[in-house]
Amino acid sequence: MAVFACAGCGAELTGPVTEVALPPHAHREGGNRYLPALMEPGTFAVDPEPSGPPWRPWHELGVDEAAARGVYAPIGGLWCGPGGAVLLAPGDTRDTVLIPEQCDGCCAAGGWPNLACERCGRTVGARIDDCYRWQAVWLRPEAVRRLPVPGPARPAGDGWTVTPLPPVEPDGWWSDRWSAAVAVALAEVLAASDGRPVAVPDGLLAETFGRTLDRLLPADGPARTLGLAGPGLTPDPAPDIALVPRHPWTGAAWQPADGTVPAALDAEVWTYLAFPPLRPTTRLPAGEERDDPLPLRPYRLFEPDRHLLVHRLARLPAVRQPWLRAIYDRLGDGRQD
Ligand SMILES: [Zn+2]
Repeated sequence: MAVFACAGCGAELTGPVTEVALPPHAHREGGNRYLPALMEPGTFAVDPEPSGPPWRPWHELGVDEAAARGVYAPIGGLWCGPGGAVLLAPGDTRDTVLIPEQCDGCCAAGGWPNLACERCGRTVGARIDDCYRWQAVWLRPEAVRRLPVPGPARPAGDGWTVTPLPPVEPDGWWSDRWSAAVAVALAEVLAASDGRPVAVPDGLLAETFGRTLDRLLPADGPARTLGLAGPGLTPDPAPDIALVPRHPWTGAAWQPADGTVPAALDAEVWTYLAFPPLRPTTRLPAGEERDDPLPLRPYRLFEPDRHLLVHRLARLPAVRQPWLRAIYDRLGDGRQD
């Protein structure tokens, strides 16, 4: 376990927290209006990507420097500050104060940076508490120090057993987390398609992945198959491309059988797809069906988060192939957003 302390005065700014993988919806914006805490209490994640100033536009970066920074297609620009920002649940922070003049969100705190160390006043990060954004605290990598504290490094178990995440919220909207998780995995499925059609099984996979793949890939020619593989699920025959779970603690993708190309998916989303909850098989007597709750159906068709799809595609070396670059350009890069 670890705590994070102010790099200026040493004050502890968090309780003890355990590291997990950065969730795919860490940078999701514009979903449901009221969103809960992004991270589970007692956990933190580190974003390896650079954040914070300086901001360098694409025309200044150029192709070679962008590639050296892990970006392989034109984007609006890149933050070129240090990587390693720390993401936590707001309830795990201690002795921090808001900087009121920096809290310029729509409904509450949304500005960056807007959080300071209470003891010395040093700016340490941002508290995100605004509409259409996940509740979160981000700590700047240069503003805090990570200190080890006694306690288990990981929870019990191997980490693969997780609670399946339903795709539809009780209020009838598609899950925000599904939009983000599917978008990130879709980028990898597109790259693995080699520009050929992808055959997707009917059902939830077709609803969430299939529609976008059909829209972006050619309809004719020999198709590659998409399926699921992971702990407790070995498909036979193996699909050409397998959606595999990403380990919740480390972020490492499950490795499928030889010959199958993996595309990593959030483990809780994957578990729902791989092991969907059983529906009741008994029926109520005629005339009493009105009391039988119908399965949740969303109000509209599923849409993966386009910004996260584009963000991930730009960071796949495969996007340098002309056919995938054409898809990237169709989706619209960061310069138009
Ligand atoms: Zn301080």
